[in-house]
Amino acid sequence: MEELKLLGKIVIKGKIKALTGLHIGGAQGNTEIGGVDNSVIKDEEGKPYIPGSSLKGKLRSLLENHEGYLSATKLVLQKKGAEPIRIHICNEPECPVCIIFGRNHGKYTLADNQTELVISNATPTRLYFRDACLDEESIKDIKPNLDLEWTEVKFENSIDRITSAANPRQTERVPRGAEFCFELVYNVLREEDKELFSKVLTAMKLLEDDYLGGSGSRGYGKIMFKDLAVYWKSREEYETGNFSAQPIVMGSLEELMQKNIPQLLK
Ligand SMILES: [Zn+2]
Repeated sequence: MEELKLLGKIVIKGKIKALTGLHIGGAQGNTEIGGVDNSVIKDEEGKPYIPGSSLKGKLRSLLENHEGYLSATKLVLQKKGAEPIRIHICNEPECPVCIIFGRNHGKYTLADNQTELVISNATPTRLYFRDACLDEESIKDIKPNLDLEWTEVKFENSIDRITSAANPRQTERVPRGAEFCFELVYNVLREEDKELFSKVLTAMKLLEDDYLGGSGSRGYGKIMFKDLAVYWKSREEYETGNFSAQPIVMGSLEELMQKNIPQLLK
């Protein structure tokens, strides 16, 4: 196994802004009185948030797609819940998805349902996401108009094609304009990981032109990243405690993408 040691961490902080209503589903069945059936996930204070796992899963799947991995020979069946899901895992030493998101040793079945894949090149996950909490200030002007304390309730109709009868249902959404704190951490464990970091920004850009959460085909979940700041915390800083408070790059996602970030990681 190759030698890996922490050279430093790239930390991106900023905001995620909902440009349309956002629905990331919460646990069903424990609906509060007066609540809706199809609720959004909330924290212990009852405020909606974006779980780090939602961001991670979405960026990973977008990057797998971008790298051309959506084929039976590049996907494995992973048992999660009742039905297995298809996810990319491979043995390629320099596969960007497997390096950024990590891979474990183990035996998998390829998505063709017959070929066995034995993973021997395990590597630690480079990328971590924090849960993104709601910035209350961002919705203070629209708060009086909301249906629930922090969210809106949208009524949608499915139409029976023969009788034209409507089948209304309610969906809770985070309102357009809501902003969430955003933070990700990318561990640089070898020099090559610095170049690979651009793939993380690519995945974030792909997400802006995709959607987060449910019902994306019906107008939900368009988001943008804003007010981003990139920090580099070197190995040396972790040893001395003398961290630089200054970001190495600030700006929009496009501005980050246009900078040569690997050159700034000293
Ligand atoms: Zn791979």
